[in-house]
Amino acid sequence: MIPQGVDKDAVLERARRVLVGGVDSPVRRLYKPEPLLAVGGEGPYIYDARLGRLVDYVLGYGPLILGHRHPEVVRALVDVLSTGWLYGATTPLEVEHAERVVSHAYPGGMVRFVNSGTEATMLAVRLARAYTGREYIVKFDGSYHGAHDYVLVKAGSAASHLGVPSSPGVPRCVSQLTLVAPYNDAGAVERLFEERGGEIAAVIVEPVLGNYGVVAPEKGFLEALRRVTRKHGALLIFDEVITGFRLSLGGAREYYGVDPDLVTLGKVIGGGFPIGAVAGRREILSQLTPEGRVFNAGTFNGHPASMAAGLATVRVLEREGLRAAVEAARAVEDAVRETLDGLGVEYSLVRVESMLQFYIGVGEVRGPGDVARADKKAYEAIHEEMARRGVLIPPSQLEAIFTSIVHGEAEAEAFAAAFREAARRVLRG
Ligand code: PMP
Repeated sequence: MIPQGVDKDAVLERARRVLVGGVDSPVRRLYKPEPLLAVGGEGPYIYDARLGRLVDYVLGYGPLILGHRHPEVVRALVDVLSTGWLYGATTPLEVEHAERVVSHAYPGGMVRFVNSGTEATMLAVRLARAYTGREYIVKFDGSYHGAHDYVLVKAGSAASHLGVPSSPGVPRCVSQLTLVAPYNDAGAVERLFEERGGEIAAVIVEPVLGNYGVVAPEKGFLEALRRVTRKHGALLIFDEVITGFRLSLGGAREYYGVDPDLVTLGKVIGGGFPIGAVAGRREILSQLTPEGRVFNAGTFNGHPASMAAGLATVRVLEREGLRAAVEAARAVEDAVRETLDGLGVEYSLVRVESMLQFYIGVGEVRGPGDVARADKKAYEAIHEEMARRGVLIPPSQLEAIFTSIVHGEAEAEAFAAAFREAARRVLRG
């Protein structure tokens, strides 16, 4: 099944001629010891045209919580291929997926499916502005909510890694409406609201920061955001593109027991196919066209392939739960701690369920500032040495290490061995 004999150098050379930077998304440029040329996937493994089989802890940057080519997802997709894959009309699959997604992510609410996390946060912000009649939004330093103008201000992920957290090309009049607060600092948000509360439509937050490494919310932080937004008549948007159906089936909303007004979703709910969604309170969602006047439309909204893959994924998670993914992440945590403790280096590791990241050279991580102080070069060298040993972790420490429910003991052992050798080599010379 996995294609053999692909001439990697030749294909990459062609890629560089027609794809900007040889890629379609910037983080993909960062892999070491060489760019990846992915030719297949199977369970917890990704196949590169030259490096061969690698244990995959990137998982497409989060969506593949069942690993690659889970048989139930394959079956659901074959059904779509044998019946038809685009109608420009409502489908039964779409209705069922909407019911499942709403019942977990925002019980009692409604949902609109779009095609990416980027579209989801763009729509959520538009809805919040329309609902409140206000124009300012608050985001957090280092949080990433996709690649559109409203939120490309001090953004994490590749935007920060490449030194363009606030992109050229975003009109000043748009970025001026995006106020930036420090993550895990409820006092700063309260002060912002004291100053201009009457102008703020919404606070948008990654409940667990997953695009500036992984940073967990401190006790009371999300609750404080709920309090202050409610007090000032602003909406609270949880961007659960990563955390949705990963921290728990009900995402961070359920996991932390804090109720936002809107939730944005993506990644897992498409089972590896393009998707985004906004879920939330009925009276807010019903402002959308065609019921209301807030415009949204999309040729591919509710695409049958994404609905089928996403629904199959949610069904497997409902049946099997997330425990195996969490255990796999715990095994990664244990391996990292054992090796780094043994080497006597200062480090910090943050894990929330099945997402985690480690930081060399800093003892505590409470916000992006701490992540920025970590030894990024050491992380990248460890990434490279691990890839040489058949284990793939993200090439940038600003991304999260993810596990799936099909990562088992063999993968945990492979991780531990590769990490031990890589860390020794990098940190001991
Ligand atoms: N929000 C968050 C929290 C994300 O992590 C991402 C993507 N990593 C997005 C939004 C954007 O999603 P997409 O890449 O599907 O546009």
